[in-house]
Amino acid sequence: MNMRRILAIVLSVLMILSVAACSAPGNDSENTSAPSNETASLKEGTYEVTGEGMNGDVVLNVTFDKKSITDISVKDASETEGIGVPAFDLMFPEIVKHQSVAVDTVSGATVTSNAIIVAVTEAIKQAGGNIEDFSKEPEKTAKGEPITKDVDIVIAGSGVAGLSAAVEASATGKKVLVIEKMPKIGGDSAICSGNIYATGSKVQEELGLTDNGTPEDLKNFYLKQGDGHASEAWAETTAKHSGESVDWLAEKGVTFKHRSPDSSHRSMISESSGVGIVNALAERAESQGAEIMTDTRATELIYKDGEVKGIIADNNGTKVTINAKSVILATGGYDGTDEAKAKYAPGSVGHHTFSSPGNTGDAIEMVQEIGGKIVLKGGLSGIALVGHLPLHSPLSQLRIINTSVGVTDLGYRYANESMSSPFDYYNPMVKTGRGQFYNIVDSTTTNELYDQAVEEGVAFKADSIKELAELAGIPAYTLNTTIEDYNKLAKAGKDTEFGKDTKDLKPLAKAPFYAIKITPNTNDTFGGVTTNLDTEVLDESNQPIKNLYAAGGVANGELFYLRYPVSGSSINMSTTYGRISGQNALENVQ
Ligand code: ADP
Repeated sequence: MNMRRILAIVLSVLMILSVAACSAPGNDSENTSAPSNETASLKEGTYEVTGEGMNGDVVLNVTFDKKSITDISVKDASETEGIGVPAFDLMFPEIVKHQSVAVDTVSGATVTSNAIIVAVTEAIKQAGGNIEDFSKEPEKTAKGEPITKDVDIVIAGSGVAGLSAAVEASATGKKVLVIEKMPKIGGDSAICSGNIYATGSKVQEELGLTDNGTPEDLKNFYLKQGDGHASEAWAETTAKHSGESVDWLAEKGVTFKHRSPDSSHRSMISESSGVGIVNALAERAESQGAEIMTDTRATELIYKDGEVKGIIADNNGTKVTINAKSVILATGGYDGTDEAKAKYAPGSVGHHTFSSPGNTGDAIEMVQEIGGKIVLKGGLSGIALVGHLPLHSPLSQLRIINTSVGVTDLGYRYANESMSSPFDYYNPMVKTGRGQFYNIVDSTTTNELYDQAVEEGVAFKADSIKELAELAGIPAYTLNTTIEDYNKLAKAGKDTEFGKDTKDLKPLAKAPFYAIKITPNTNDTFGGVTTNLDTEVLDESNQPIKNLYAAGGVANGELFYLRYPVSGSSINMSTTYGRISGQNALENVQ
């Protein structure tokens, strides 16, 4: 059994988790032999927790005494005998023995291994444990001897792009290795809701989504959203393959439904969200013989005689040299950390990110080092949200109020409030250099949601603008002047400042007034490595670098520009170009 090291990082894990109730305290198991965690102070009991496995939910009972995990057992799961089930037998005793979720995952059972880590991590959280106390590396796996691997194709990154490439490449029986920097697979793809935007798929036909236009329409949509900075050839290719990509995912086991009755017939959503897409692809790739190594970060390309010949990676301090005939970079974007944003999109530093912490633009540096061409288009995609409430909170509809006055925390107006997409507010926000914004409204259009927002601490309410400013911590004089100026524009019927639609231009005069807290959040990045439409990475002279391919968020600069076109664009693009890279990378393999 080939085992791999894994370190628990909880942030992204928790986002995909579903949790059931905890049983009454004092329900400890008999096991007293586990080492205790002296720093822990836990709520004793057995916790029922769930992770998403290969064949649906993996429900575990995790038992704690005051200091340690004493037992883990399966409450309910339908994992496949011989594939997923060995992960239970191998990982449970290891987690209890080492009091750590940083144990080896089981090769060939990545999805079940992930589900176990997700569920046990949640149990630790529910028991009041500090996840860092339970993420220590077991000693036996400290820095090892360097490892060398010889494969046909190595893929860095296990999001939808990397895994689509892996499925295509391993279908032919070639030796395919996916390396993933994080302890769990999936990157942003596993965090996202699983929306996909396409035209012309059989899935749409079967769902009755007939009004989805033509590839030509979709191409024009991308070009429009790119404000003249998107490449026509990229828009055309992406649109042309969009339906086929949806059908291909469906064939690999992903079930889609219409996103909502109100959404466009081009919008579908995976019934098991982004994580369901990732799991289906990982399962398929492994069943075809591909290997997935987590906790393994690509650090350098092996480049000799003008050709890429593999990747150097780091697995918990162990150097891994991977010799390969083709290398595919599918490392996603660069908004996972502030350090990465500081390098590639400094205006977004400090903004909360929805992206996986592993998305730090590593491939950009690796490609630059061997003379590859990088195109950064000056920014990344972001979304305005109400306070720090989740995207799908009912209150999140208050993030766009066309009749409001949008101001910074300094009280200055910053944008045309008539925009319809929450993505469109992000760039005006970045331009202000501020990190906190407010939608100011009066009481002519309010409803019960506004008072609810006040109760939940994401809005302020007052009888005058001055008082409102004081409550929100906005300089009162500035806010007052901004509202007075805006009211003059409204009375004149023309927004000479930001060109707001006149139907939304109404003076704010009727107390009480509300200030809804709005925060900028990043969710994707634009630009990075440059490729042609065959996904070959280009050098500074636009010539392909031999044996090197890139797909997905790491190489989306020709298609996207400053504005994220629509929810579901990235998953579709990553599937399409991931597949193309997997197919083309096979050409170097005899
Ligand atoms: P995409 O949609 O392009 O597939 P994702 O964000 O879903 O993008 O996936 C990118 C994946 O690449 C993430 O899981 C991320 O952790 C991984 N990754 C980033 N940098 C490296 C690296 N240097 N080595 C291996 N994996 C990496």
